Amino acid sequence: MVESQIRARGVSDERVLAAMCKVPRHLFAGPGNEDQAYEDYPLPIGEGQTISQPYIVAEMTQALALGTGDRVLEIGTGSGYQAAVLSEIAGRVYTVERNPVLFERARKLFRQLGIESLETRLSDGTLGFPEEAPFDAVLVTAGSPSVPKALVAQLGPGGRLVIPVGDQYFQELIKLTRSEHGIRESRMGGVRFVKLIGEQGWRE
Ligand code: SAH
Repeated sequence: MVESQIRARGVSDERVLAAMCKVPRHLFAGPGNEDQAYEDYPLPIGEGQTISQPYIVAEMTQALALGTGDRVLEIGTGSGYQAAVLSEIAGRVYTVERNPVLFERARKLFRQLGIESLETRLSDGTLGFPEEAPFDAVLVTAGSPSVPKALVAQLGPGGRLVIPVGDQYFQELIKLTRSEHGIRESRMGGVRFVKLIGEQGWRE
């Protein structure tokens, strides 16, 4: 998976590649999906949600340019796979999920795997995680009609925010970087994610 789908398409950050070699994706893909867990596409994880294609996980993780001590916020825990990859690289990961079934399932898996540098929360992630802000990096793994203001506000100096923005069917992956001169925006190409539902996202 890592060599043919990820490195071959240009992901070169060795820490990202190593993390993706290490995290057992089949445990996150869920019952019935194990045999497809390392294939080049997203998979259903129940509750109408999906675990992203491996390459997209790698590309988004690389875009965050994580340092080993970084504090990272992920919105949309889902299966927990992306959060587990982030926790291999960053210092501390906070992940927020709004669906109680997925939240509990991911939490159980994090416990089983002994991932300790990770904190989970059941709430509306469009509002971020104000108690733990500021963050060095914020990653949103659901598609939003616009960039939630709360997430930009919770970015620390030099902070990076990666989020899919667009309509229900097509989004552009956007990266915002905070510097002393303000916020810089770059575009990373088209993606398709499930909806980010909440106060600063879609209304159901
Ligand atoms: N990162 C996940 C995949 C995310 S799928 C993985 O690695 O498996 C998108 C997830 O975002 C879904 O689980 C959905 O319930 C969740 N979500 C949607 N809106 C949300 C919100 N406002 N706050 C938190 N989670 C949200």
